[in-house]
Amino acid sequence: MKIFAPEYYNSFKCIADKCKNSCCIGWDIEIDSNMLDVYLNMKDSFGEKLKANIITNEEVSSFKLDQKKRCPFLKENGLCEIILEKGEDYLCGICSDHPRFRNFFSDREEIGLGLCCEEASRIILTSEVTSDLQMISENSEEEYELEDIEVYVLNLRNKLFGIVSDKDKDYNKCRFELSESIERGVPVFTSDDVKNTYLGLEMLDNSWESLLKGFCEYKCHMPSLCNEYSDYAKRLLSYFIFRHFADTILDGRIYERVVFSILSTEIIIGISDYLSDGKIKLETICDIARRYSSEIEYSDENIEKILDYIAKKSTE
Ligand code: SF4
Repeated sequence: MKIFAPEYYNSFKCIADKCKNSCCIGWDIEIDSNMLDVYLNMKDSFGEKLKANIITNEEVSSFKLDQKKRCPFLKENGLCEIILEKGEDYLCGICSDHPRFRNFFSDREEIGLGLCCEEASRIILTSEVTSDLQMISENSEEEYELEDIEVYVLNLRNKLFGIVSDKDKDYNKCRFELSESIERGVPVFTSDDVKNTYLGLEMLDNSWESLLKGFCEYKCHMPSLCNEYSDYAKRLLSYFIFRHFADTILDGRIYERVVFSILSTEIIIGISDYLSDGKIKLETICDIARRYSSEIEYSDENIEKILDYIAKKSTE
């Protein structure tokens, strides 16, 4: 299996106690069966504490979150008690893997950093867009095989990466050339589209809903804004294409997934502008990207609803 990742992948390291939006708060933390066995067989006092803080519902085990939805092992100083007591090898799969995501092909795996983590979002928004991923596995000389449909999708995605990574093209030029590549026009989305789609989605955080409602009343031309912040917008565009385009192998929704990448980018920059007084700061875009990712990218149902909306809009 060959493993590929973006150039910036290896620069990620969890910033732990310096993180203002720890992933150990607000998320259910499912424990994989291998680590659950290890936890259940620990004989020392920390093992007892672990066992007392695990709940199992319908054969799924997770840590009992406290009233503020914090992991019971997240200390007040922002450090993880499991790491402090036992070391990183004792983290369950989700905790050691977060914020990574993976795309699987027949003989190829891609690993990326997800925008939902504030440090990953900072890295993604400050790293140059490149025209391809890098192989990070050993035996890079060895041949590997892919199915025809995978080759087709990867070639098309490389064409999209090529457009977005071209330093001579600003955001609007990329947007136009992406639409040419998929041979269909991309509409200009407005706050009405956000109202019609995003406000009807399942939400994790009430403050996100309030923010969206405020943004729906805000008048801005999202593509022009993205053009003003072209570097950031192109980095977001490249990230969304990387993360979501490969799924066209499963559902064939090439048009919808390219437009989803454009729409996601424009909403993040649009909301960042709505929150800014004048020039948008990098920290604001990182924060909105992080929140957007948490609300949208971890819900297949939300993504499907947005893709359906895009498909419907394209026929109007
Ligand atoms: S959100 Fe990212 S930086 Fe923050 S604690 Fe989680 S992995 Fe670490």
